[in-house]
Amino acid sequence: PSITDYLRSHIRTVPDWPAPGVQFRDITPLLQDPRVFRVLIDTFVHRYMDRAQRPDVVAGLDARGFIIGSVLAYELGLGFVPIRKKGKLPFTTVQETYELEYGSATVELHADAVRPGDRVLVVDDLIATGGTMMAGKKLLEKLGAEVFEGAAIVDLPELGGSQRLREAGLALFTLVDFG
Ligand code: IMP
Repeated sequence: PSITDYLRSHIRTVPDWPAPGVQFRDITPLLQDPRVFRVLIDTFVHRYMDRAQRPDVVAGLDARGFIIGSVLAYELGLGFVPIRKKGKLPFTTVQETYELEYGSATVELHADAVRPGDRVLVVDDLIATGGTMMAGKKLLEKLGAEVFEGAAIVDLPELGGSQRLREAGLALFTLVDFG
């Protein structure tokens, strides 16, 4: 099978979670099998190793972006910085609030996490509406850094998030689409 199909076959769909009507794409089976986990990480590693231009730093989005992002940063020989849900980071932060289907969410980044001009690879498990990735982009831009690329395992293209992100000038790399 193709790498995409191999990875897809290890993503579990949980109906009606966390709310009725939602089909939750659960990536934990990808992490659980050591061979699949290696293929997953190596697919990202090869993309950023082979490029003439590599990112300067990897940022992970809370919380599943930490799992992929930290291993990827380690393999690329780069530092890792966490973009966290509000209230978790102890030092001075910048904040960005964005709208959810019901209510809003705030994410934070340590003010010294990146330097002006840094090209940051932003990592998460999944892109739905794109709101979380967009908030990450805004946080990095507040500190004068730029998004090198957004990377995620799964894209849900029907929600339009990846298209909106690309229209906002954010390059995206995703491995598996679910319609
Ligand atoms: P967005 O901000 O609407 O693009 O939603 C993406 C964020 O919500 C990511 O941080 C995901 O971890 C999480 N998320 C939304 N839907 C799912 C899903 O079906 N599976 C796993 N994570 C999801």
